[in-house]
Amino acid sequence: MQERFCKCGNRVMVQYHSKKDEAWFTRFWVMGNTFGKTIRVCPVCGSPLDINSLK
Ligand SMILES: [Zn+2]
Repeated sequence: MQERFCKCGNRVMVQYHSKKDEAWFTRFWVMGNTFGKTIRVCPVCGSPLDINSLK
């Protein structure tokens, strides 16, 4: 996984997948104290997460 930051400064983790017969896709994670979960929008500011717009 790679660490990225939303424009609001919230940290998200990005997981890349690549399988032979599937298109590339990415999955965004936020890490809690004891678990992680996948997200599609920033839990802090609500912005849609786009790998191309994250820093
Ligand atoms: Zn945000």
